[in-house]
Amino acid sequence: MNYTDFATLHQDLKSQKISCQEILRYYLNKIEANKHLNAFLEIFEQSAVQKAREIDEKIKQGKEVGRLAGMVIGIKDVFAYKGHGLNASSKILGNFKSIYTATCVQRLLNEDAIIIGRLNCDEFAMGSSNENSAFGNVLNPLNTEYVPGGSSGGSAVAVAVDLCWASLGTDTGGSIRQPASFCGIIGFKPSYGRISRYGMVAYASSFDQAGTFTKNIEDAALLLSIMSGSDEYDATVSERPVENYTEVIKTKPEKLKFAVLKATLENEGLADYVKSAFENKIKEFEKQGHTIEYIDFPYLDYLIPTYYVLTTAEASSNLARYDGIRYGYRSENITDSETALEQTYIKSRSEGFGKEVKRRIMLGTFVLSAGYYDAYYTKAQKARRLIYDFLKNTFVQYDAILLPTTPTSAFKFGEKTKDPVSMYLSDIYTVLANLGGNPAISVPLGKNPSTEMPFGIQIITDTFNDSKLLQIAKYL
Ligand code: GLN
Repeated sequence: MNYTDFATLHQDLKSQKISCQEILRYYLNKIEANKHLNAFLEIFEQSAVQKAREIDEKIKQGKEVGRLAGMVIGIKDVFAYKGHGLNASSKILGNFKSIYTATCVQRLLNEDAIIIGRLNCDEFAMGSSNENSAFGNVLNPLNTEYVPGGSSGGSAVAVAVDLCWASLGTDTGGSIRQPASFCGIIGFKPSYGRISRYGMVAYASSFDQAGTFTKNIEDAALLLSIMSGSDEYDATVSERPVENYTEVIKTKPEKLKFAVLKATLENEGLADYVKSAFENKIKEFEKQGHTIEYIDFPYLDYLIPTYYVLTTAEASSNLARYDGIRYGYRSENITDSETALEQTYIKSRSEGFGKEVKRRIMLGTFVLSAGYYDAYYTKAQKARRLIYDFLKNTFVQYDAILLPTTPTSAFKFGEKTKDPVSMYLSDIYTVLANLGGNPAISVPLGKNPSTEMPFGIQIITDTFNDSKLLQIAKYL
């Protein structure tokens, strides 16, 4: 299949130059040929073939088809799709099958997208390398010794090697943008609350946001237009009217004013090759007539601690529901009938969760415990407010903030697993947008000269200014 833009594919489908079944077959073959990358946990072949047939039939009969007819999409293993398996890449969900469909997935289906399968990720979306999946590592297709990033690693790899046209991921602290940076594609996290979280497995509810992996901005804009908007099942989703992002990005933005946070470039973890590529890009923007200003940012060192205190607190509460009774996995090793109930809870959770998830549940329980609550949780909430205010004030004066997506290109498997803090620090540039709820995108920027692995540049705009973000991303 030699299509680079979806409009052409969609048009050819409608004029019967190609069929949905042919398109689907192409992807199924590609998935088969790239099994070693471990991107997909399950292929939904039956429902995908059925949907493809239905669409082909509608076209033959001259009926209208949805705006996504011809688009084959993979979903991260955290989105519910009725009747299909869902594990959040964890053992604890056992052979759970969704009993309803996530709002965002339903909206894709309503527009005739084909959902081809579910994609591997870090367990409960906790991780930056995909090494925390209960179902094995996802390999970076550009060099299989390197991680694809995480937690939406499978979603990034699937789009990078063309196993589906686009994919869904979730971004709580960078899980879309960081793997997009490591795999050389576009990763877009919309504003918090733009897309309903209904049917998305919760990690940290005040941060979690669904978004997309695509090869161009047009697809990101189209998918956002379709998935966004109010939903009676999610009280936190915004009721603001949904813009037609596809139309919006047809207009080139006028002269822009960008802020660069000085501290992000002075960070000692930032690799020289990322820094110089970033600075060269900034110079190009200046030559194009845009204004760049370097501003103070006093909170860089507080981003990671604030993020990890708050998200682990929320995770400890969200993950309490996996108790061995209600979902999936239940331990068989219950030895004493007197304490059977308690043992069921303890053993199911001990055996069902992986190491990183347990670490976060314990950390989150600790920061919420009486006596420590104010010192950690309350303090982190206050820090979040300062960061939020900083961003709000910045966007009064500037159109966007520019910064690297990641301090380095992809690292090797095993390189950071022994030291969780060094793993957490790889999210230093991405958690900012989640703390503020801002939309953010990673677009490919350059390559590490010694490993040839890619990395991205990140753009952040004001909350609910997703349209400006997409415009900037498209034209710069
Ligand atoms: N890597 C970050 C973490 O481990 C972000 C995860 C995410 O965005 N889901 O928490």
